[in-house]
Amino acid sequence: MLTPSLEDYLEEIYRFSQELGYIRITDVADKLNVSLPSVNKAVKVLSKKGYLVYIPYKNIGLTEKGARLGEFLVKRNQMLQEFLKVIGSKVDREKEAEAMEHYLSRETVDAMAMVVGFFNENPGLQDKLYEFQQEYRKNQPALEQ
Ligand code: CA
Repeated sequence: MLTPSLEDYLEEIYRFSQELGYIRITDVADKLNVSLPSVNKAVKVLSKKGYLVYIPYKNIGLTEKGARLGEFLVKRNQMLQEFLKVIGSKVDREKEAEAMEHYLSRETVDAMAMVVGFFNENPGLQDKLYEFQQEYRKNQPALEQ
């Protein structure tokens, strides 16, 4: 198990490896808005745990284990954003997914993915849910902030 912060590092590292084909400490630092030493430290820990191969000043590469978990983390993030859309939550979905993602069990993640799959395959039911929601919201007192 990785800490939430290490999961975020691995998630972004996997994204860069997919999008650019290479991984740079500076890119990861910019994306996560952290310092270079923080990324360096995380990269060292991740390579020690067998997720990355790291040759200082030269190269960062994902191991098979790292790529597998990285892919899961990226997909989980996408799925959570889709889930929020499916349930009609009008939040900043990117931000909300970031806040939720590290604290869900695999069981719950799978169940949420199933809900997303269900509504994708049944757009008529998705529309029904949204209609219901509109009525429901009209009759709900506003939540206190
Ligand atoms: Ca994340």
